[in-house]
Amino acid sequence: MFDRAHEVRSVAANIIINHHPHLEEAYNEGLIGFYFKDGNNDWAGKAKKCTAFERYTTGHMLFIFIDKHAWKVYSDDQRRALVDHELCHFTREKTLEYNPETQKQEPKWCDVNDPDNWGIRDHDVEEFSEIISRHGLWETGIERFAAAVRSADYQMTIEDIEEEQESEESGEPARTPYSVDRGGVVSLKKNGDGKGGDAA
Ligand SMILES: [Zn+2]
Repeated sequence: MFDRAHEVRSVAANIIINHHPHLEEAYNEGLIGFYFKDGNNDWAGKAKKCTAFERYTTGHMLFIFIDKHAWKVYSDDQRRALVDHELCHFTREKTLEYNPETQKQEPKWCDVNDPDNWGIRDHDVEEFSEIISRHGLWETGIERFAAAVRSADYQMTIEDIEEEQESEESGEPARTPYSVDRGGVVSLKKNGDGKGGDAA
């Protein structure tokens, strides 16, 4: 179901150096886990802050999940835009520190290893504005792409209907329910709480 995504990791390297300086240290220390996920995902990519248990079991602080099918059908440009987009979800606290050389208070990133210094931010307007400026307007709603491709070539068969009926009986939804907001962003509908905050 999950695979280490070395390709995604290497695509991320350049993007981080050029556009996400707050992630450089985390990247170099292996605190960002990159994974492919197969199966019927309703998203192309997902950024998540690890829970305490996930930190304990994986040694990571942050996760990026990429839908395996989306990665396969995306062009190199789309792949870069998607990875850049997911990286935009991660925020890191800053503090001011006195620099004796310049005799000024200067901003400094807070401790990379403290989970409290990491956060997830949501999309502004329709897409992260920096993604639009770097990859163009055509990238708007890139996370929706996988779901769109899937619904286009998805044909319901008798087996599917039976499966759905069966899972209805067992009380579990046949497919993860999802919603598409006005910005074209797909979000999985969550049961209960947000579980440590993840974003599509
Ligand atoms: Zn997103």
